[in-house]
Amino acid sequence: MHDPLSMITPAPPDAATARRIAALGYDPAAQAQELPAGCNLCGARERQVEVAHRDRYGYPTTLVVCGRCGLGYLSPRLTAGAYAHFYDRVYRPLVSAYHNRRIDAETVQGDQRAYAVQLADFLGPWLSSPPRAILDVGGSTGVVGKILGEQLGGRVTVLDPSPGELAVARAAGMETVAGFVEDFDPGERRWDLVLLCQTIDHLLDVGATLAALRRMTSSVGRAFVDVLDVDWVRERVGSIGRCVKVDHPFYLSRLTAEAFLGLAGFTVVAERLAGDGHWGFVLAPGQRRPPDWPALESRAAAFLAETVPPPQWPPTPVAGTD
Ligand SMILES: [Zn+2]
Repeated sequence: MHDPLSMITPAPPDAATARRIAALGYDPAAQAQELPAGCNLCGARERQVEVAHRDRYGYPTTLVVCGRCGLGYLSPRLTAGAYAHFYDRVYRPLVSAYHNRRIDAETVQGDQRAYAVQLADFLGPWLSSPPRAILDVGGSTGVVGKILGEQLGGRVTVLDPSPGELAVARAAGMETVAGFVEDFDPGERRWDLVLLCQTIDHLLDVGATLAALRRMTSSVGRAFVDVLDVDWVRERVGSIGRCVKVDHPFYLSRLTAEAFLGLAGFTVVAERLAGDGHWGFVLAPGQRRPPDWPALESRAAAFLAETVPPPQWPPTPVAGTD
């Protein structure tokens, strides 16, 4: 999705913002919704604690945090079909209404270019040789892929669900694949550099996506994944409720991100915290490794103790998720 930096600084909607959002006529509560089967990281079904009930746009949106591992996620959330409609028709107008300026595939290109130049500088020293092939998962119009291909070398493939955005990437000379990475069968094809840039929070299945990324990374290759750190955002905006947005089904921290990456069979070879709160991980294919569950659980308990006021703490199971 390549969110511009400005999109991660939420403020509660004032009256004018609320009017602009209301004028869009979108109501997530009227869309098809589903309850996730369980925690996408640890699989727990009964440890979710509700920590917020409204998102930064003012939409009724429930964020739960898993008491076993600390992963935050929306439950219920829009179905895949409802999200497809949301991204097709609502997402850009909604963020434009929220920030009171036009934000679309064209205007975000400046942010994406700056991001790509910085990313190429960061990745360069961690690649053993120039990549022959680069895959940008969720790479939209290919702005980031194109710059990385130019600066690091390698033919670029862009995988994205939006045919309209892919047409721009194709016109710029890149190979394109329409669809979701979890559904994409690459056969024997592997890439020397696989990217998942500022996209993970928008996914519906983080574990399956990272497993797919791992399969597509060549044995000597590298992957890069960055994750908006919910702890960083919460510290900045003052409350967990102001971190919530309907377009982010998932809320990861550095700890939960590393747990996901180890389970997928990635070894972290370098990491950085960008100025906008994204942890970036350079990854090598390795063995699947279970996380330190007790450490995750104690961090989750500390997070919930400071987030959820009594009497909601200690947690009670969220009805209907068993
Ligand atoms: Zn969990």
